[in-house]
Amino acid sequence: MFPTIFRADLHCHSNCSDGSDSPQELIDIALKEGLCGLSITDHDTIRAYETAVPYAAEKGLLLLSGVEFSSSHAEEPIHILGYAFSLQAEPLQALCRKHRMRRRERNLEILANLKRMGITIEEEELGSSDTHTVGRPHIALLLIERGEVSTVQEAFARYLGEEKPAYASGEIISIDETIKAIHQSGGKAILAHPQLIKRKRVFRKMLEMPFDGLEGYYAHLALDQEERYLDIAKERGFLITGGSDYHGAVKPNNRLGSSWVDQETFTTLYNHYVAKEKTT
Ligand code: AMP
Ligand code: ZN
Ligand code: FE
Ligand code: FE
Repeated sequence: MFPTIFRADLHCHSNCSDGSDSPQELIDIALKEGLCGLSITDHDTIRAYETAVPYAAEKGLLLLSGVEFSSSHAEEPIHILGYAFSLQAEPLQALCRKHRMRRRERNLEILANLKRMGITIEEEELGSSDTHTVGRPHIALLLIERGEVSTVQEAFARYLGEEKPAYASGEIISIDETIKAIHQSGGKAILAHPQLIKRKRVFRKMLEMPFDGLEGYYAHLALDQEERYLDIAKERGFLITGGSDYHGAVKPNNRLGSSWVDQETFTTLYNHYVAKEKTT
């Protein structure tokens, strides 16, 4: 028997946003992969926790509150991870509601753009935004179903990606507002996958924002890049988080547990979460 190493994956998506597994399935997979801790970071929603909290308790997996909010700076998409907030906190829940409205308007804009290009998709076909966050990956899957494209990647390359003809950014919810809601809810705000930020200027600007940490370990991140982020984080006293960004069948190359944090990092966040949940 190998000794068990404590590993916790702090970045994955359920079918409450654009992942393909239910929250319970994610927990089952996490246990099968030998993980001890998990955070489900759906885009702009914490709905997964309604079923995930009791199920993780039953199965003995440590579950940390988490979310991945969409924002943008100088037209570059920025994702902000929130961790260790109280799931009951009103500022965070209000921000999720605001995103739901934003996304509804934005999806209608994208569908109108597609209609001008001769592709008609009705809003109802996207599924209910009451049960899950509806985003571009859901539109991509419908484009595959229609035979317009053969892969999600192709849907983004031809229609849905930034600067492509059907793209709409929708209302921008600022980075400041997002970090504030996470902090007011007792949580920690982390800059997600910094390597995806294209312009250096934008990355430097992010370092001036009141983040508590950055995501230093990420699926497929080259070791030299990882070291660079770890150096920056150490210099600033940042938390360093990590995770696979697992989406299930939607992004089959990212296996759950392929990036992770150790017991020390997880425990810091988890103890903070338990304390916040008790006082809210
Ligand atoms: P949205 O939140 O609606 O703007 O959609 C963004 C999500 O789409 C991201 O979190 C990714 O999961 C996915 N995505 C973004 N760009 C691509 C791409 N080029 N190919 C496949 N999936 C993508
Ligand atoms: Zn996603
Ligand atoms: Fe992301
Ligand atoms: Fe993600």
